[in-house]
Amino acid sequence: MPNGDDQALDQHSLAERLARVQAGIADAASAAGRQASDITTIVVTKFHPVALVRELYELGVRDFGENRHQEASAKAQELAEVQDLSWHFVGQLQSKKARQVAAYADVVHSIDRPALVTALGVQSKRPLDCFVQVNLTRDPARGGVEPDELQPLVQQVLDTPALRLLGVMAVAPLGEEPRQAFARLRALSETVTTLAPDADRISAGMSHDYREAIAEGATHLRIGTAITGNRPVPG
Ligand SMILES: *Cc1c(COP(=O)(O)O)cnc(C)c1O
Repeated sequence: MPNGDDQALDQHSLAERLARVQAGIADAASAAGRQASDITTIVVTKFHPVALVRELYELGVRDFGENRHQEASAKAQELAEVQDLSWHFVGQLQSKKARQVAAYADVVHSIDRPALVTALGVQSKRPLDCFVQVNLTRDPARGGVEPDELQPLVQQVLDTPALRLLGVMAVAPLGEEPRQAFARLRALSETVTTLAPDADRISAGMSHDYREAIAEGATHLRIGTAITGNRPVPG
């Protein structure tokens, strides 16, 4: 159920929403003593038509996020002629779809189990950039590896030449102060960099919590509705 804020969203133009979020990111970065240019904003366009991706591209957006293979693959195909555009796969990924996703995705944010590393490891056209997703909730059914199992999964990724580990990814749990959850993610990121000093990126922060994510070191924000407006209801 959209709250008042979410309803107001659709009264602004796409360009206005993008500009507002960019200003919010700049503010949060400066409050944290960070450079906004060190932060990549991925606009999550799931459920929206490819026309919206084109409009965002015209507005200067180059990083796009999708969470379902069918939809992502169709959009990537339609925009195949656009060279300087990056697709980020942010959703749960079935092992049997892994190779297909690797064919168009530039970055996979949701590596969360050994079988997926094995499946993606077969692809070898170019190393695929990836994040290991961590489950910050107490519900083991949610996406992401349990923090206890993070280190061995990271090691497996590091031992897979077809993959290049960028860092860790997470979604803030509902019902918890996001800043507190992102602080745990930052601590986990530090344990990862003891194994792989270059894998220091953090994918965290969505429409409602990107400021808190920036305060805790997020380098890759995944923002949907605050920029795109409310998602169309799937038909
Ligand atoms: C949909 C989605 C987002 C964006 O969510 P908004 O609340 O619309 O900003 C970010 N990350 C993941 C994994 C998603 O599935």
